[in-house]
Amino acid sequence: KDTTVAFVGLGHMGGPMAANLVKAGVTVLGFDVVPAALEAAAQAGVTVMPTAAEAAAQADIVLTMLPSGTHVIAAYEDSLNGTRGILRAAKKDSILLDCSTISVDEARTAAELAHAAGHRAADAPVSGGVVGAEAGTLAFMVGGPEDVYADVLPILEVMGKRIVHCGGNGLGQAAKVCNNMILAISQIAVAEAFVLGEGLGLSHQALFDVASNASGQCWALTTNCPVPGPVPSSPANRDYQPGFAGALMAKDLGLALAAIEATGTAAELGRHAEEIYRRFRDEDGGAGRDFSGVITTIRERSGA
Ligand code: NAD
Repeated sequence: KDTTVAFVGLGHMGGPMAANLVKAGVTVLGFDVVPAALEAAAQAGVTVMPTAAEAAAQADIVLTMLPSGTHVIAAYEDSLNGTRGILRAAKKDSILLDCSTISVDEARTAAELAHAAGHRAADAPVSGGVVGAEAGTLAFMVGGPEDVYADVLPILEVMGKRIVHCGGNGLGQAAKVCNNMILAISQIAVAEAFVLGEGLGLSHQALFDVASNASGQCWALTTNCPVPGPVPSSPANRDYQPGFAGALMAKDLGLALAAIEATGTAAELGRHAEEIYRRFRDEDGGAGRDFSGVITTIRERSGA
């Protein structure tokens, strides 16, 4: 592929994603503010650049994989390491492709900034975690115009497996936030059911055997089962090592809450889930544990 990609943000996700692009023959110009991330990227064949602006100036696609929307807009706008931001540095008609998880409103702002500076833009948040990033099996949820989608699809296919065009700018983030809200609520529901079963004298295996073949069936039960035993690969079997850390789930639910409030949606369980995972992260030691570990706090609060 003769596309040149500027890759800004070479962390847990961005590092392996950039490495997969290199393996597929894409020229990758990488930048990160952390020297260790740059060193690892260089080992993987990424051409390390001194600033994001210098990477962007030579690229067809500027991909950002940063912690939050504030970071993305800061990298776009200006004064990154005292140099010009991506908006001013990138070539006209280049595509600014943000793969970070940020709010729908921030994604729309980022796209407006890109358009005003003469660029094209799409949001393409991912799911699949570090494992999916390494294996090149991420799911991408894309928001942006049809032509931009068509032009980014070949590089997304290198890094991912399931790619869905969800609509215009911001709607990739919308799909991500809605999916994660389902996941967050269903993981709590499954955990509450196991703790209730414990109180009633029902074994984990019996509840699993019934619910996994009945209408209670869901990913939170059959893949991420919050008790050890029924699903040997689930984080519960390794003391809730992530997996998907509580800190990330709490972050994503913060974005869901922002969307719930912006739209005035009567999402009572979504709001409550945000509160539960925020408490799990801040008060119950859950920041670095898999989010299915929320079951331990439900059990403790039950006095069991
Ligand atoms: P990370 O913190 O490991 O990586 C972010 C990188 O961005 C870091 O290396 C940091 O140094 C760099 N950075 C920060 N500001 C920068 C700047 N101005 N210029 C250049 N680089 C800068 O985070 P991550 O786990 O790779 O996650 C990245 C994004 O992907 C987040 O939005 C996260 O919510 C999302 N995400 C993460 C996972 C996961 O499992 N880790 C899964 C899905 C989505």
